[in-house]
Amino acid sequence: MKVNVLGSAGSYQSPTRQCSSYLVTSGEIRIVLDAGNGSFGNLLKVQDPFGISAVFISHRHHDHMVDLISLYHFLKFVPNVTTARSKVPLFASKDTHEFISHFATGSIFDIFERRVVEAGDIVEIGGVKALFGAVNHVPGSLSISLTNQEGESLFYSGDTSYSDELADAIPDQSIILTEATYLVHKSEVGSAIHMDGGDVARLCRRSRAAGVIITHVAYPNDPQAVGELVVKNFSGTVEVANDLDVYEIKSGKLRRLAPSER
Ligand SMILES: [Zn+2]
Ligand SMILES: [Zn+2]
Repeated sequence: MKVNVLGSAGSYQSPTRQCSSYLVTSGEIRIVLDAGNGSFGNLLKVQDPFGISAVFISHRHHDHMVDLISLYHFLKFVPNVTTARSKVPLFASKDTHEFISHFATGSIFDIFERRVVEAGDIVEIGGVKALFGAVNHVPGSLSISLTNQEGESLFYSGDTSYSDELADAIPDQSIILTEATYLVHKSEVGSAIHMDGGDVARLCRRSRAAGVIITHVAYPNDPQAVGELVVKNFSGTVEVANDLDVYEIKSGKLRRLAPSER
């Protein structure tokens, strides 16, 4: 399983980062996890959008779904495509789908197949199983856990605060892709729906994770500083995501690929 980071910014773009989006590749399957603002340009650098197998949106915030509109326009209007193609399944909760319907024109569902899911649901895309879980953010927010036929898996938290229940829902030895909006919480408001570096370390320790990819650090918080804080408090593999990084998940291990290996 491979993870291309298409957007590693938290909440809004930074000078060097687009908003949340990840391309997960397993064999011939290409799954887009979230489509935050600015991420579509990065998608074009690494993947023909016509090859996307499915799109999953974790929640309704703009920094996770706005570029669905760019993807829709590309798939609908790009010239030189004459063959009829089947719709791309678009998985999200009822709340998120309602928001997408209001935000986009109705014809977005000419391109995407509306698939409503909730916590506890499992769907399968070409041998890749996706399990959705509840997280504490805005209504309808979901975690997404992907597992392929080789048993390689990725747990994506989406946006969430820390809770022991969240950690306990993650299988032992997981590779976690998680938000760390803050280095340390500055307010109770922030701590209610997001995590900081300490929360991420706690999540990884309690869930006995094998490794973590830290993302969604809100500018001007320093992602490297968040990573250093997690390294001090968690003994597994710690990676700090940058746009266009590529990670391999193999035999339960997480590894950042060198440019020559991508
Ligand atoms: Zn966000
Ligand atoms: Zn959010």
